[in-house]
Amino acid sequence: MFQRDDLQYLDAALATLEEGFRSLPAFKIAVDGERLRAVLQETALKLQDNFPYPHPLYVGQMLKPPHPVARLAYMLALYLNPNNHALDGGRASSAMEKQAVAEIARLFGYQTHLGHLCASGTIANLEALWIARHARPPGVMLASEQAHYTHARMCEVLGMPFETISADATARMDLNALEDRLRRGSVATVVATLGTTATGAVDPLPAILQLRERYGFRLHVDAAYGGYFILADNLEGETRAAFDAMQHADSIVVDPHKHGLQPYGCGCVLLRDPGEGRHYKHDSPYTYFTSGELHLGEISLECSRAGAAAVALWATQRLLPMERGGEFARGLEAGREASLALHRHLQADSAYLAGPRPELDIVVWSLATKSRSEASRRAQAVFDAAAQRNLHLALLRVPDALAKNWWPELAADAASVTALRSCLMKPEHKDWLPRITEILDTAAHAVLGA
Ligand SMILES: *Cc1c(COP(=O)(O)O)cnc(C)c1O
Repeated sequence: MFQRDDLQYLDAALATLEEGFRSLPAFKIAVDGERLRAVLQETALKLQDNFPYPHPLYVGQMLKPPHPVARLAYMLALYLNPNNHALDGGRASSAMEKQAVAEIARLFGYQTHLGHLCASGTIANLEALWIARHARPPGVMLASEQAHYTHARMCEVLGMPFETISADATARMDLNALEDRLRRGSVATVVATLGTTATGAVDPLPAILQLRERYGFRLHVDAAYGGYFILADNLEGETRAAFDAMQHADSIVVDPHKHGLQPYGCGCVLLRDPGEGRHYKHDSPYTYFTSGELHLGEISLECSRAGAAAVALWATQRLLPMERGGEFARGLEAGREASLALHRHLQADSAYLAGPRPELDIVVWSLATKSRSEASRRAQAVFDAAAQRNLHLALLRVPDALAKNWWPELAADAASVTALRSCLMKPEHKDWLPRITEILDTAAHAVLGA
């Protein structure tokens, strides 16, 4: 399952890396090989207590295995462990980060940009909102009630007032509710989510941009999950239009550690206007921003950061360039096809209540029964029965506002309904779908028949 054969390429690359330092006198870290072996064996046994995240039968949460090239390049860089805070902590890895991030900026259509990698989508959004606070007069931050929960938290950290806008029946931001709020004034920033975490809904960015013309606010796009789908050729009309409008956002966040095949610890924040670098100024000279040799630590909220994350991303983009029709894009398209196929399968079987047609690659569904509470109980039972058969799903609490539209046939005896959810993020999910639905059906019918 872990392609251990690939370690030979790491060994060869390490030998090459070592060549670059051969003028140094030899040295070795003293380790007791026997004890090292024993502790690693103990570690491996501990790690057996996990769901099988990299396997195609894991179709639960947003977990996508890093590509082998990312894993190996990360490990290769770990032997130096560069710190991309400053050029003297990570010269090559800083250059690789700038190149990789510039490619991501181009992917979204930015003509100019300032940006860098960071720990996660949460930290990337925090940084974008922090810049938003400096760039606009004080005011309220708005996001859809389906936006990631960390926006509210980060506004609290930043001391910015935060309000939510209701979602419509498709779980996108409700435009009428947004305009009602904008009319009341004092809005500084609107966050549009391109790919919500729960259901993969894509906020109507072109219409939100029109509202920006009229009401004047800063627009941040949280594409932590969905961003890379800009490359997919099988999105539908409004979804496609939202991705095509990303270039007009003031800032964008994408998580290479979600759909970009990277190990955790890789978020990315982009500002469209490089001049906003002035907001990062601490006790440092202005020359920072006129120097061609920009230290990434001078345009970043965080200080120390893993250079290895940049190296892994750079290597991945070398092997799998982010271009339409390329292998990377086809992987995203395959996940979306798999999600549509699963959705069709659910619609065709009266045991299930399908959720909305997936916009990206997340599928949500309930079970045909009399009430929300019974559907919740059965979803949990199907989750367990599938896991016993090696198929790993996820559960999602669907609030009343969505449940009443999606599954009006369920008596509303509870404020929400626990539904089943699958993120079909792996390219392999397309070929594995018959196996996936077969196990799901067996598990569901075992529960429903009981
Ligand atoms: C996952 C996610 C985040 C948070 O990113 P982390 O990398 O988990 O911190 C923010 N926004 C959206 C839309 C997400 O899907």
